[in-house]
Amino acid sequence: MQKDMHFYGVYALARAAGLGLGEAFTVAHSSQFVDDAVDRDMLNNDLGKAVISLMTSHRAIDSENSNDYDQWHVWVPFHFLPGNVGNSFNEKVICRKNSIPAHKILQNALSKHDSPFWPHLIGVTAHVYADTFSHFGFLGISSDWNKADEATININVQSPNILQYINEKFETFKAKFAGVFASLVPVGHGSVETLPDRPYLKWSFKYLTGKHMSEDENRNNQDSFLEGCKCLYEFFCDYVNISGRGDRNKRKPWGDIKSDIKTIIDTEGMLSERIDLWKDKIRANVFCASEPADLSLNYDENIWKIGNLSPTYQYKDDILHFINAARTHKNYVLYELLPQLDLVIT
Ligand SMILES: [Zn+2]
Repeated sequence: MQKDMHFYGVYALARAAGLGLGEAFTVAHSSQFVDDAVDRDMLNNDLGKAVISLMTSHRAIDSENSNDYDQWHVWVPFHFLPGNVGNSFNEKVICRKNSIPAHKILQNALSKHDSPFWPHLIGVTAHVYADTFSHFGFLGISSDWNKADEATININVQSPNILQYINEKFETFKAKFAGVFASLVPVGHGSVETLPDRPYLKWSFKYLTGKHMSEDENRNNQDSFLEGCKCLYEFFCDYVNISGRGDRNKRKPWGDIKSDIKTIIDTEGMLSERIDLWKDKIRANVFCASEPADLSLNYDENIWKIGNLSPTYQYKDDILHFINAARTHKNYVLYELLPQLDLVIT
């Protein structure tokens, strides 16, 4: 998924579940920042101490993507959680929508009562959970099973402009990178570019090889994203209920917000247009009785950059809490969950 869902959608759903605007912002920023914590900055002299960063993503095309270590430390735990369905190792490592392992990470996050980085961990977990509704069918490790037969890709959109936009992006992507990345380093959904991450898209393709399910090749992103929104909303309701934070009396029932969310998801548009749709619905009090801060909602990937750390910096705690939340999530997935599923030997 992209910023429209990982930040704006998550914020709206967290507010609808009853979270206050400050905590909803922290959850949403943590969710999106999983895609933006790509730097290796390590030290800030102003603090007089080292800070060990934790990368949760790489820039779209990065030689690190070919690194086995990074595939297990970045792509698998943060973007392509193994679904553990099937018999063979490859089948089990395929990401699966709303899987049992996905529910395990939700339970892990919800159990961290009163951790100083609890909302950050809820946000990180929300990112990984949301991705299961778009990345299903693909593996976070390098595998031929991620390769698509390009000639079979069929995109179904109404707007000629959007179709042209998608085709141009795909051609640019292929021309620049496919030879070195999608073909030689088949990690995740690189072979089909960002098609799984566009909410409004209905599309189909065939894999070149591997054992996949029918829904992996015949994709209705609209249905998957709506299901994902409902599941995220329920996760945030659980968090409000368990933590006692926010105000459950201000919660909007799913039935009251579903049709507006469906309208946002189904609308064909570029990322900035899709973000504006979420903002418009927030302004229209669809998710909560909006306050001034709701109306000026904006994501800035720089405010949590580790290079900004200093004793007096406004977001110092958030920067450190995000690192600790991401580390807590990763350690749980790699050293507890995947060994329990017999996918990793410890
Ligand atoms: Zn992701």
